[in-house]
Amino acid sequence: MYCRYCSIVPNEVLRRLEGDDSYTAKIDAEVRKVRNQAMQLTRVSQEMAPQGLLANAIATAPKILVYDCKHTNSLPGTPVTNPGGSADGSIKRCFDETSAVAEFYKKIFGRNSVDNAGMALLSSVHFGVNYNNANWNGSQMLYGDGDNQIFVDFTKSSDVIGHELTHGVTQHTLQLVYANQSGGLNESMSDVFGAMFRQWRKNQTVTQADWLIGHEIMGPKPKAQGITCLRDMADPGANHCLAPQPFHFSNYTPGMDPHYSSGIPNYAFYKAAMAIGGKSWEKAGQIWYRAMTAGKSPNMKMSTFAKRTRDASKSLYPGDTKVINAIDAAWKQVGL
Ligand SMILES: [Zn+2]
Repeated sequence: MYCRYCSIVPNEVLRRLEGDDSYTAKIDAEVRKVRNQAMQLTRVSQEMAPQGLLANAIATAPKILVYDCKHTNSLPGTPVTNPGGSADGSIKRCFDETSAVAEFYKKIFGRNSVDNAGMALLSSVHFGVNYNNANWNGSQMLYGDGDNQIFVDFTKSSDVIGHELTHGVTQHTLQLVYANQSGGLNESMSDVFGAMFRQWRKNQTVTQADWLIGHEIMGPKPKAQGITCLRDMADPGANHCLAPQPFHFSNYTPGMDPHYSSGIPNYAFYKAAMAIGGKSWEKAGQIWYRAMTAGKSPNMKMSTFAKRTRDASKSLYPGDTKVINAIDAAWKQVGL
């Protein structure tokens, strides 16, 4: 199984808040089946393509397509003409933010779309009725409107859009299996690049950033209880998170939901970026991206990824002891 829930909200949270009969959890199970097929297709096509062919594809900006499910579960839904000019806030936000994610990957990392070959980016909005999640289903993004109790419209947090698209990038780079340590790394790649994207959109330094994941999608129920986000990269175990996470490797257990174990590499990234200072995407992000694109590693251990970032810090910034020590110290603080 390559990917169980490449969604933003963990299954446990949905069952806790929506009950055992969770509508969203049931739909997610269906989405998962499609995603596993798409993951396998990606692996087969990459194995068949001669090396370098994908990278040499013509570097045009990817097409950004938005579809409207109109509250049904059938994908992709109805194509929207001119989504950037739509009066529908979800459609317009989805188009604007997805376009910006593509620009972010191109400008900051030199990557042309999720597959680095200009793949069109397809999103469906208004998926289902009161659907409390956003997903990468292996070939496209889909966004629910939320039930307006627990969550509101999932297009409202730009980091959620960056998170979902990064699942696509991971599928085409590390190809991480969505379970155990590689699953935690998979979720963490999405949070790290999603958070970085949100900071880049706001042109924030690491100290100006709030490091919250899903701040703008919180509904009135969690807000009334003082909950401000799904996750907090700066304080993963905090009470103000809907899904608090462990953030030291000694608290990792095999089989843990990737949305929880991701707290460990998330916190390492936060610590590294803070110690380096400036803007997260300038150095820490470059190191993470180098480690992410240094070859597939489906069953990667967290310590292996940590080693890749330590190596990348030395090859990208030789002699820069501030950066090299920051990366090393960040992983040591999470026990790796
Ligand atoms: Zn995810």
